[in-house]
Amino acid sequence: MIVVGHKNPDTDTIISSIAYAQLCNSTGKNAKACRLGELNAETEFVLAKFGLSAPQMLQDINNTFALVDHNSLEESAPGLDETKIVEVIDHHKISLKTSNPIFVHIEPLGSTATIVYKLFKQKNVAVDQKLAGALLAAILSDTVIFKSPTTTNEDKTIANELAKIAGITDLISFGVEVKKKKADFSKTSALEIVVTDAKEFAFGKKKACIAQVEVFDWALKDKKKELVDAMKQKKGSVDIYALMITNIVTEETLMLYVGDEESVKKSFSAGKFGENEVLLANTLSRKKQIVPPLQKVCEL
Ligand code: MG
Ligand code: MG
Ligand code: MG
Repeated sequence: MIVVGHKNPDTDTIISSIAYAQLCNSTGKNAKACRLGELNAETEFVLAKFGLSAPQMLQDINNTFALVDHNSLEESAPGLDETKIVEVIDHHKISLKTSNPIFVHIEPLGSTATIVYKLFKQKNVAVDQKLAGALLAAILSDTVIFKSPTTTNEDKTIANELAKIAGITDLISFGVEVKKKKADFSKTSALEIVVTDAKEFAFGKKKACIAQVEVFDWALKDKKKELVDAMKQKKGSVDIYALMITNIVTEETLMLYVGDEESVKKSFSAGKFGENEVLLANTLSRKKQIVPPLQKVCEL
């Protein structure tokens, strides 16, 4: 069985796939973690810090699959169909339809890493110091250092348990250290910014592609024109292409967008609109704060 996370992999996807494959192997189920794309600088830092090797790129879909940190075919390996999927471990809304019953473990928690650690405990398998540190980094990354509204008390409790195993005393400054690794875009091209961590969604008859970057300041505002042009170039057949520039410090999101402006305006009527942009207060989560209103309006 191959354990695989989503395309444009983030730290939660990579660490959860490594950890879940390790859990399967230590309970007698043969599993191998694979990835679907290049690692971002944050994930590279986490793997190096804890001496873990990156999963190999997926080469062959002739296998059975456990999907972690996603459960839609759009976000999964090209060519993969539901008949090969035998397990799902995730914290996103269900979108997979299967013709056979499969093992599904979805919980509304802040990260898949939280769920994978719960499975280690359930199966009485110990997590070593390295993996504990990496799982902690994944939780801090996905919950935006516990600021995201997706964060639950369980994420915090488990993060503290993992911190003890990993020997990390200051979770918040460790979280900032992790998040800062992919918050500097001064040397990144606009095209790269709008495709890294982009996710595609089907909302009724409409399609949206929503990318997100998390930053500690508004330096990226200077690149607005290039970013809008890059989204126009990448838009293809989707109806809306958006880039969430999420400021972790102010807890606001400046969302740049191209395409179906009417739907964006209807979905975020409380936002402050400008040309190809809307500023949203208290907004950090794509999954919880951007996707649901947009989906509702697009499916009308
Ligand atoms: Mg993810
Ligand atoms: Mg996740
Ligand atoms: Mg994420």
